[in-house]
Order: sequence, then structure tokens, then C-alpha cells
Amino acid sequence: MEQSVVRLTHCQKDIFCFSVPDNCPHCGGALRGGRLQEAPVSLPSPFSNGHKTSCCLLIAPAHDNLSREFDGMSDLHTGISNMSGVVYNYTRSGVGKQPTGWERCVSVPLVRPDMFHLLAQWDQYLERFSEGSLWDPAWHRFDEDDHNCFSFCLQFINSVLAAEGRSPLSRDAFIHSFILPKMRRVSKYTTLYQHIQRHRYYLVDRQEDTPVTTETRTPNDQRD
Ligand SMILES: [Zn+2]
Repeated sequence: MEQSVVRLTHCQKDIFCFSVPDNCPHCGGALRGGRLQEAPVSLPSPFSNGHKTSCCLLIAPAHDNLSREFDGMSDLHTGISNMSGVVYNYTRSGVGKQPTGWERCVSVPLVRPDMFHLLAQWDQYLERFSEGSLWDPAWHRFDEDDHNCFSFCLQFINSVLAAEGRSPLSRDAFIHSFILPKMRRVSKYTTLYQHIQRHRYYLVDRQEDTPVTTETRTPNDQRD
């Protein structure tokens, strides 16, 4: 069970931990009952339950991938959720429709909540697209590099864009603008999380201007 990361501030330090300690790990001053500079804040996890999403691209990072910087799409599983959280994803055996198994993944919303006409047709689009011969193992071979779970998602997104009269996204544009920023956040959060698991706290000089809800400094602070 994942714990949530809490940030609090004391003696000009940001302190990240799972629960507020009695004393400041930096100066030893009392925290509980003592005066904090501000109330502890929970950091939002970058992960969500894919089955509680609708119309999202879902990315499930492979476990051994979590601690390093993401450099591409290898070792990631991707799928698309329908209106009721069933995840359509393409593998060697064709398109699977999974009601479970995507409980911890990163979600990228594909439809704005006000696009009612798209929402109304989403399930039908997805169903019809999945039945295409491109994804039928009898007609087309799955290929690790060129014809994989990500091809399925990108081509589906492009078919929706085409139906909306919009131009398609290239693979590179999609990876760089939608996926990599999310995966960088996952990587930072995971590094921070693992540091807290090992050392109980992560301390860093207080950053007045850092909006901690969106970006978090981590032990291996990486430049973007
Ligand atoms: Zn202190």
C-alpha cells in the first residue's frame, strides 16, 4: 500500500516524510504541538487507478524502470480506457479489454470534459478501432519496436483527431509533449519516495518559489 508523502517546513528546510515526526530532523526542535511555519502539505501522487478513469491514455511503467530517468517508450505498457474504465491494450495476442490490472498507472486525459459529442461516441470508436485487421494477430504481427501497444494507442488517437478534422500527431511529438513530462514527474516522485523509505526524511533548503504541488526536488535533482 502506497503511503502519501508529506512536506513540512522548519528552520528554512523543506522536510519530506510519510508522517510528521515529533522533532525536526534538522534542528531537533519540537514539531508536534510546536509551531510550524506552515501546515504540512500532502504531495499528490503521479499515479492513478486507470479503471477509475475514462477516455485516458494509460501508461504503466515497468517496475525496474521507476528509479531511472525515462528516455523512451521501451518497457512501458500503454492502453486506452473506455467510458467505464475498461482498458483496451494491444499485445501479441491481439487487443485485450481489461477490467483489472491497471490500478497503478499514469493517466493522460484525451478528451476535454466539455466535448460531449466525443464522449458519447468514445466507446463505439474504441470498439470499432480495436476490431481493425491491423490489431488482429492472424493478419499482423506484433513487433516490439514498430507495431506495439503504443502504436495501437497513437493510431487510435490519430483516428479520433481525423474524425474531428484535426491533423495527426507524430510519434515523437506525442512522446515529447504528453508522455515524457509525466514520466519525469513519476521518476522524481519515485526517487523521493524511495529516499524517504530508506532514510525516513528528505531535507532540502527551502525553495520559496518552487510550487511543490507540481514539481518536487529530489535527492538526485535533475535538470529538465
Ligand atoms: Zn528545524
